Amino acid sequence: MKRRLPTLFISHGAPSILYEQGAARDFLTGVASTLERPQAILCISAHWTSASPLVTGAAAPSLIYDFGGFSDELYRAVYPAPGAPELAGRIVTLLKEHGVEAGMEAHRGLDHGAWVPLTLMYPEADIPVLQLSVQPHRSPEHHRALGQALQSLRDEGVLILASGSATHNLRDFFGRAIDAPPPEYVTVFDEWLKDSIEKNDRAALLNYLDTAPHAAANHPTPEHLLPLFTALGAGETAGRILHRSYTFGVISMAAYAWD
Ligand code: ZN
Repeated sequence: MKRRLPTLFISHGAPSILYEQGAARDFLTGVASTLERPQAILCISAHWTSASPLVTGAAAPSLIYDFGGFSDELYRAVYPAPGAPELAGRIVTLLKEHGVEAGMEAHRGLDHGAWVPLTLMYPEADIPVLQLSVQPHRSPEHHRALGQALQSLRDEGVLILASGSATHNLRDFFGRAIDAPPPEYVTVFDEWLKDSIEKNDRAALLNYLDTAPHAAANHPTPEHLLPLFTALGAGETAGRILHRSYTFGVISMAAYAWD
């Protein structure tokens, strides 16, 4: 029997992380060597939002270049990982069995929240990848329930990879240098997140808008934090911090694992 894979939340940063050296890039490049090789990767990316949960069903997903203003080489990037249509169908069924209305998106490719970190983590692009969408108007609890419904996939060697950003205030992002020091409202929230995850204070995490310091300032919109709750829901234990650094001051690159 395969060992149960941990479930991860990573901060994907700006797409330019592919060619800009830094601590978070080094972390993403090395993290796969700490994990058993997955049979498939289910990525919950902040960059795919929909009213109700959708799963990608393409056999050979294309790439979506869903960003602007970056170097030309990013628009020529390829990541020819296969999809996993059969697994996608089973995920839709699993979600429905848990009372979640879910559907399949047969033709959608991979967005940069998935393919950019996967290019660093698994550059061979030989592990099947599929995506699950985020529902920005739904609660953290909804996203936790998605993870719980999919928890059994971890026993089949599926890596549940939530990809967002531990802090994500893009209004404060522009004009800051890549190595700018983080302002206090960012570090205070980031520290709260780490403490709450390590203490496994799920009630505080799920109610972060009321319980976390500077929650709305760090997440003016919720889509970059919501994937974290799916990783949390698919995990059973307290989380472990795997990495922490900052880019452009306001983007925490923190990453966590749950066993
Ligand atoms: Zn993003």
